[in-house]
Amino acid sequence: MLWSELLPHEFKKRQAECPVVYLPLGLCEPHGQVSAFGLDTIKAEWLCEEAARKVGGVVAPSMGYHIHETGYHARWLEDEIGEENPHFTGIPPAVMLHLFLYQLRAFANAGFSAIVVISGHSGGNQRDLRLAAEAFMKRVPVNVFVRSDPELVEGRYEGDHAGAYEISQLMYLRPDLIDMEAKALEDQPGSGGRLALAADAVEASPERGRAIMEACLDSLCREVEGMKTGLRPSTHPPIDYATVEEIWSEVLRSARDWTTAQPWPGQAAVSRNSRWKPYERYAPVNGEAGN
Ligand SMILES: [Zn+2]
Repeated sequence: MLWSELLPHEFKKRQAECPVVYLPLGLCEPHGQVSAFGLDTIKAEWLCEEAARKVGGVVAPSMGYHIHETGYHARWLEDEIGEENPHFTGIPPAVMLHLFLYQLRAFANAGFSAIVVISGHSGGNQRDLRLAAEAFMKRVPVNVFVRSDPELVEGRYEGDHAGAYEISQLMYLRPDLIDMEAKALEDQPGSGGRLALAADAVEASPERGRAIMEACLDSLCREVEGMKTGLRPSTHPPIDYATVEEIWSEVLRSARDWTTAQPWPGQAAVSRNSRWKPYERYAPVNGEAGN
């Protein structure tokens, strides 16, 4: 299923059978002392690979860098991480969304007619990805589906950050990457403290994780089944850089409305001396990455 591991004739065969490509999105960020940093990426990869195994399609290389820090993230970071080093792989919204458009271009040019983007990092950033995807779809005849994993099971499970939902997910997928005993490190100077672990993480279990992941997978497989019916590999002429830059200009014009560019309505302000203060209100500079 993995694009990076397929030979050309295998790729063409899989694509002819199901011209759907999956993009797993996540990042490295702390989920308490108890969890590996890559939780978000790992669950997105699992969902994409299992869906491709069951329904067909090809899984693109994962994207392990994602929007963090800006807008609503800033106060959240102050509350959940404080002034500690989060050791994370966050990038600015404009860098992410610009690259995202080029990822969509690569998929369309490679012959895919439907693109499934699964983000293990949620909380609002997926809205901006959808905004960019909408702009792309106005110009290119492909179907782009963007969801975070909690959105796949809305009404059945509530997503969280490093709580009973997420810690259970990793306990099921990669029990070797969870060590609940490491929670004791929270009190040690220099450890980073709680590192965003939620209080209900102690209720996490592999059984709960399995139920959540299977529900996410069922929902995703139903979506992809629907998308692939009658779908053929794309015969659209290759999209050039200039076209992507035109789409990017359109996305950039709405930068002030990006979900990741501002605090939530009514969200507390970031403290003046916090390391996160500069990121609270984000605006791209020179069409790119400033804050
Ligand atoms: Zn997470």
